[in-house]
Amino acid sequence: MPSHKAVHVKTAGGPLELVDVETTSPTRGEVRIDVGACGICGTDAHFVAGAFPGMSWPLTPGHEIAGTIAEIGEGVEDFAVGDRVAVGWFGGNCNHCDPCRKGIFIHCANGKVPSWQYPGGYAESVTVPATALARIPAELSDAEAAPMGCAGVTTYNALRHTKALPGDRVAILGVGGLGHLGVQFARAMGFETIAINRGTAKADDARKLGAHHYIDATGDVSEALKALGGVSVVLATTGNSQAMAATIGGLLPRGELVAIGVTPEPLPISPSQLITPAVSIVGHPSGTAKEVEETMHFAVLSGVRAWIEELPLSQAAEGYEALEQGRARYRTVLTM
Ligand SMILES: [Zn+2]
Ligand SMILES: [Zn+2]
Repeated sequence: MPSHKAVHVKTAGGPLELVDVETTSPTRGEVRIDVGACGICGTDAHFVAGAFPGMSWPLTPGHEIAGTIAEIGEGVEDFAVGDRVAVGWFGGNCNHCDPCRKGIFIHCANGKVPSWQYPGGYAESVTVPATALARIPAELSDAEAAPMGCAGVTTYNALRHTKALPGDRVAILGVGGLGHLGVQFARAMGFETIAINRGTAKADDARKLGAHHYIDATGDVSEALKALGGVSVVLATTGNSQAMAATIGGLLPRGELVAIGVTPEPLPISPSQLITPAVSIVGHPSGTAKEVEETMHFAVLSGVRAWIEELPLSQAAEGYEALEQGRARYRTVLTM
């Protein structure tokens, strides 16, 4: 019986263990991928903690997957063995529910996420629906492509769907796994780019990433944004409701606070803060497989890359621990 190595978390909050798993062939509409790399995303901690409904155990985390198709299931026509593909948060859609029939595939009622509805990418092999596949351009390695499936597409897609135009001021709240890509994308899209983070430890990195300005969030962020002339958009990448709320006074009239940092904490913002300046607060989900392709295409055109540290799969537990303790660099990527 063929087998491969995969990380298992046996119960909520349990340790990450490397185990041997039987390798099965893909069924209809699926492909099996030899994983080359898988990013460690902040959201993986919510999975390991068992924070999402309908999870099953053992869990294999990982939704920033890049690799090469090894086997094709029946009915898969557009991909072939040997194709290099990425699978991000968008792990497949059904094409027959109401949102799919309306063409909003990211909101598929039967949508899947790797590690949630099927085992994720902390493994040598994953089997995924063909609807989840994004083609990797030749210019990107697997390790470079992997983070584009979640951190990359989320920041790129969120920014390009705002009303901000080239030359407008845009602030990125948080210079971490998501934010360090947000700063690069904002700069590459032609925005006057402002990075916001607590303290000054990341000020130099923020400038290297392309930020024109840096704001230390331990001060009054709204006042600092106003001093720069105000911003059209704040892309809030930190899962911190207080920090998000602290930016709202820095938005220009009709500005947008776009929340992508995950937290269950309520936003402490009053309607009166929204009404007179007519500002809006919106959330943004990640992006479809096609949008992951578009993200990678833009990354190739613009030179945007995640700042990654590679670790072998056998050190997944160490990589995950570094994330949990806030010691991780911008993106840890497991390589197989
Ligand atoms: Zn993620
Ligand atoms: Zn659907």
